[in-house]
Amino acid sequence: MGPGGTWWRGAGVTGGVRRWLSSAAPLPRLCVVGSGPAGFYTAQHILKHHGGAHVDIYEKLPVPFGLVRFGVAPDHPEVKSYGAEDNRVLGIPGENLSGVYSARAFVGWYNGLPENRDLKPDLSCETALILGHGNVALDIARILLSPLHLLRQTDITEGSLAALACSKVKRVWLVGRRGPLQVAFTIKELREMINLPGTRPVLNPADFTGLENAVKDVPRPRKRLTELMIKTALEKPGEKAVEVQAAAPREWGLKFQRSPQAVLPTADGRRARGVRLSLTHLEGSGDSAKAVPTGDVEELECGLVLSSIGYRSLPLDPAVPFDTQRGIIPNSSGRVEGVPGLYCSGWVKRGPTGVIITTMNDSFDTAQSVLEDLQAGVLDVATSREGFGAVESILCSRGVRPVSFSDWEKIDAAEVARGKAAGKPREKIVDPQEMLRLIGH
Ligand code: NAP
Repeated sequence: MGPGGTWWRGAGVTGGVRRWLSSAAPLPRLCVVGSGPAGFYTAQHILKHHGGAHVDIYEKLPVPFGLVRFGVAPDHPEVKSYGAEDNRVLGIPGENLSGVYSARAFVGWYNGLPENRDLKPDLSCETALILGHGNVALDIARILLSPLHLLRQTDITEGSLAALACSKVKRVWLVGRRGPLQVAFTIKELREMINLPGTRPVLNPADFTGLENAVKDVPRPRKRLTELMIKTALEKPGEKAVEVQAAAPREWGLKFQRSPQAVLPTADGRRARGVRLSLTHLEGSGDSAKAVPTGDVEELECGLVLSSIGYRSLPLDPAVPFDTQRGIIPNSSGRVEGVPGLYCSGWVKRGPTGVIITTMNDSFDTAQSVLEDLQAGVLDVATSREGFGAVESILCSRGVRPVSFSDWEKIDAAEVARGKAAGKPREKIVDPQEMLRLIGH
């Protein structure tokens, strides 16, 4: 834990105390590493069902809530949801050219994640290309194309709002390697994009012709999602809608069956000027259909490339097993394989998919494993443990002052006050040093 290390202790919930005390069970101390939704939900469930437990939650940043704070689009406060420490890489030439960004870094930038605050993406081009057909890709497209007055009311950072105010981006292509029946985004997010003021959807009717039949037998959510795309692509809009769309200054579109082959450099070899895409055909059908290159390629001009092909968890420590292929800690219901007493929750447990409710249920499942192991005497809680006391002595000997929950409350109040002045829910402080100064560290 660095100088910005943070610690909170959740006191026991009295409701469960009697049951555990009367069974003369020792009162366990638990440590949760990471204060994102998975960490908090796990702690909540344990505290709710084991009143005698003490849970210390540790966080590397001076502010809690992980990617609830840093991961989700600022205009979607109701779904604050996902996280992992890294992104999947495309592994194609040109990926490191200037003008190419990972979705993770871009999302971190507009959400005030300290490590991405200096990203300063170049938004001086007219066309952006997003690789991937997931909800993160739609989030980014929406942020790039949203009218400023809508973003101004959110907790988007001041710096990114200023950059978006000067943005020249007026066209966004979302490119997927498979077809309309395999997109990973969901209907609510697509509908929001279709209805985004000041923009017009550009869908190629040929991509959707004949899909009405194919969609008949697919599960309902996929059916409704596909029908919305078909309707947008094939139905003639009413007179008023035609007028509104014609006047829209910005546009976005979905491109299918195109797999990224290379990011193309400008003549000086420094910046991205486009992407070479390999056209694909699908082998198999439904979710498991595979994109296979046809041998044909296509080049799409763009000055901004965002790779939104999924997140990845990173190994925690050499002592903790890690499946590098799947990017998860091998576990059974949250019990880390081969390391009794160690549990995992969230994306590092199951991989980078799902929304807040998925993470909540999954964290409750891990918490349940902890509770069962406590009850069954699998965990050694006979000797009393110091918990944070021990960690605090180490920190003290190293001259490190941890940030407590009440320190966070001061940062929170300062952010809310700054936001109020600007008509926003909060103005996030993006510099950890400034946070520490604010609380007198
Ligand atoms: P995702 O849903 O897994 O989508 C990843 C996309 O990238 C897919 O279209 C995938 O295509 C494509 N892809 C993966 N590897 C590729 C490659 N090598 N080349 C080309 N394309 C590739 O990931 P995400 O968008 O990062 O979202 C992560 C999770 O957070 C999801 O569960 C999502 O629903 C959730 N989320 C929810 C919200 C919300 O509720 N509003 C917002 C944001 C995120 P294939 O299918 O062909 O692999």
